[in-house]
Amino acid sequence: MNLGYTRISTLEQDNRMNNAEKSRREFLSGSGKVAAAAALFGATGSMAYSAPSTSKTRETDNRMIAIKDKHYYLDNVLLEAGFVRDGQAVVGTETELKTLEIKGGVIAALLDNKQHPDATLAHFDAGGKLLLPAMRDMHIHLDKTFYGGPWRVNYRPEGTTIMDMIALDRKLLPELQPYTQERAEKLIDLIQSKGSTIARSHCNIDPVSGLKNLENLMAVLERRKSGFECEIVAFPQHGLLLSKSEALMREAMQAGAHYVGGLDPTNVDGAMEKSLDTMFQIALDYGKGVDIHLHETSPAGIAAVNYMVETVEKTPELKGKLTISHAFALAMMNEQQVDNIATRMAAQKITIASTVPIGKMHMPLKQLQEKGVFVMTGTDSVIDHWSPYGLGDMLEKANLYAQLYVRANELTLSRSLGIATGNTLPLNDKGERVWPKVQDEASFVLVDASCSAEAVARISPRTATFHKGEMVWGAVGV
Ligand SMILES: [Zn+2]
Repeated sequence: MNLGYTRISTLEQDNRMNNAEKSRREFLSGSGKVAAAAALFGATGSMAYSAPSTSKTRETDNRMIAIKDKHYYLDNVLLEAGFVRDGQAVVGTETELKTLEIKGGVIAALLDNKQHPDATLAHFDAGGKLLLPAMRDMHIHLDKTFYGGPWRVNYRPEGTTIMDMIALDRKLLPELQPYTQERAEKLIDLIQSKGSTIARSHCNIDPVSGLKNLENLMAVLERRKSGFECEIVAFPQHGLLLSKSEALMREAMQAGAHYVGGLDPTNVDGAMEKSLDTMFQIALDYGKGVDIHLHETSPAGIAAVNYMVETVEKTPELKGKLTISHAFALAMMNEQQVDNIATRMAAQKITIASTVPIGKMHMPLKQLQEKGVFVMTGTDSVIDHWSPYGLGDMLEKANLYAQLYVRANELTLSRSLGIATGNTLPLNDKGERVWPKVQDEASFVLVDASCSAEAVARISPRTATFHKGEMVWGAVGV
């Protein structure tokens, strides 16, 4: 399947980042050229197309910087304002340029463009870039990756089973552990550069690594907490029962993990009910949620989904606390079965985390959403021994979702963004602006696109990412 863009290797990405950082420094020190900054930050308009200039005035006017202020104005922000209709059909999106006042981590005011009621405050130029809600990478493994190190792809011949992969995981964990913190930081940098500031990371809990990955990940998240919010799922990668990890999982809960993870209760643990019961019991004992990896596509996978839904129905404390990651078994059900299970899932506020798989498997994501099930997405692997892919880009996931599951038009493309943003969208279905509103958290991304539909269709470049008012990646003009 041709996705219409080029994947670049980690090394290339790193080189690009290093070069980018170098150019930025050179530029800020005054030795760079306008064109370099324009290329780096994906700027458009007169800046991007102007030839390198030696004019001092132009260089000064087009400086790109990072914001350090806590209270400031951001001018030239492109906001969606409504849909353009031709009869019933939505054929375009209206936009307008505004100034945002950012204060104390929230959007304190939406002002006419370039209006600065307090002339003493700093103001910055978003360059006409589109404002979109911050993205959410809700299934990633920050503790276990080759990303940030040398390029490496695991040899995984056809017929490799999950048990083979668990054996490999046992072997690789001690090799990866010295780099856990360094690579988790690089992975956070990567996903922030794509606009994500909120994430849910699975973290290995197993007899080989014990709680070491959790300790390392928690140390990184503590350092990054002002610009990055991340929940942790304690993930018994070697099988909750198979590897006798229950005691370790309980220690992980005490240490501060937010969710109890799980893994294929039949294919790995060989005891579906006992495995799921143990997982739910840990969650109940510590008042936590559950987020299970369920890859099983056999009838056992369907049975596991049914058993989990039944358990939540019988246990009110678990309502709203179960996420099923992957849930490939749902792709094996017929339409009627999906309708039935989706209705029950929606009633129990059960969430599905899907990586939007390509290939033969057709996940009923749209049907689930239509029945009211909350569907979110995530990166999962980013260059690790499970998969050499993964760009850490939720806009890419929204694009995949649109390509696979919707008939593309301005309205459906714009709605597809929701899978990347926790369903926060600038316009509601009627075309009224519902985001951002005054007092909303100032967590957003600036995108080089004219509207959400274009951003989804073209996976448009991002130019700056903000979390609670703090610029965590990119640059804006002054
Ligand atoms: Zn995963």
